[in-house]
Amino acid sequence: MIVFEEALSIILNKAKVTGALPDDKCEWVSLENSCGRILQQTVIADRDMPPFHKSAMDGYACLYSDLVSATPLRLLETIPAGGVAKYPVTTGTCSKIMTGAALPLHADYVVMIEETREEEGFIYCTSQPKSKTNICFKGEDLKAGAPVLHPGCLIQPQHIAILAAVGCTTIRVAKKVRVGIISTGDELTEPWESPQVVQIRNSNGWQLLDQSKKAGTLATYYGIARDHEDSFIPLLSTALYENDVVIVSGGVSMGDFDIVPDTAQQLGIDILFDTVAVQPGKPTTFGVGANGFFFGLPGNPVSSFIQFELMVKPFLMQLMGAHYAPVSLRLPLSHPFTRKQAERMAHLPAKIDPSGSCLLLNYHGSGDINSLQQANCLARIPLGVTFVAAGEPVETILL
Ligand code: AMP
Ligand code: MG
Repeated sequence: MIVFEEALSIILNKAKVTGALPDDKCEWVSLENSCGRILQQTVIADRDMPPFHKSAMDGYACLYSDLVSATPLRLLETIPAGGVAKYPVTTGTCSKIMTGAALPLHADYVVMIEETREEEGFIYCTSQPKSKTNICFKGEDLKAGAPVLHPGCLIQPQHIAILAAVGCTTIRVAKKVRVGIISTGDELTEPWESPQVVQIRNSNGWQLLDQSKKAGTLATYYGIARDHEDSFIPLLSTALYENDVVIVSGGVSMGDFDIVPDTAQQLGIDILFDTVAVQPGKPTTFGVGANGFFFGLPGNPVSSFIQFELMVKPFLMQLMGAHYAPVSLRLPLSHPFTRKQAERMAHLPAKIDPSGSCLLLNYHGSGDINSLQQANCLARIPLGVTFVAAGEPVETILL
């Protein structure tokens, strides 16, 4: 049995990427298809941001010194957003200006409409000028030529705004890693079938499929393999052939019918570990084949969910050139926690409560998907720890 940190480091070492990914691992996508993909180019600002001195308010562009001396200001013109001022602003004058419009020459202050009064073509300021000028200065956010997005960036809507603003409409991203999912178990039925009393609906395969898709991969579900080689070998060999990574759930423990690791080995997978000191998820298995990678996750849906999030997701993201680790913070535990055995690092479904503490949810073990569905985080109890007092900080991993 190896510890979690060692298992993670073995996995991530196999997905090591130095610098940008090579061309055969990349493709070009349009701006509207780039969200959720991993950027594989440096994006440069093609112009200053903002590109000109810009009014941040609807108001009157004027000279600050005129406001200090409370001079009435003669109105010259109205400048709409996208318009060009006809007149420079000089002492005793101002121009009405809309948010986003370019300032007229010499203007160094915009007084908000709400702080003015207009009378017979003159504008009077009704409050003292402030230190904030209400001007966004040319280049104050970014200078032309500055690198703004870097390879490895997971593109989100806020990155789309930058790509659009710099005119980058065809984007080099990592090709999606292909992931094949197989569920194993003689007891499993698909969700649309009626289970016999002793059967269990396959929730795990569908959960893993969506976890994989959410991680930005091209994920395919291969169905349920029964707990014997005749059923499992054809599915596994097809999935290994067609994908970069295959994730199998179930059949990795010590039971008589847990054939997954042996069968994977028969098909050429070199198993690098098959037991990790984590709870839930002890039989988590990882192997390397000639053309791809293999994960065996425990059949219980909470175990496989958690080990996917903590180990498989960082691996998949790294294969696509992104460095990803779940966000974790230290929060006080809401209630005391006790356990008898502490030879494994535990992860417990939890919720961050409004006071900012980590609230452990009622949890009956690794099959309890009802507890997991209410969780927005996991409380991590380190190896060797049997008791955590209420109010003591615990590592809280956001889901
Ligand atoms: P295993 O890892 O195959 O020993 O399975 C452990 C437990 O998880 C058993 O109670 C199984 O019935 C259950 N299980 C296995 N695969 C799935 C699945 N795909 N969906 C839901 N439960 C499962
Ligand atoms: Mg099984």
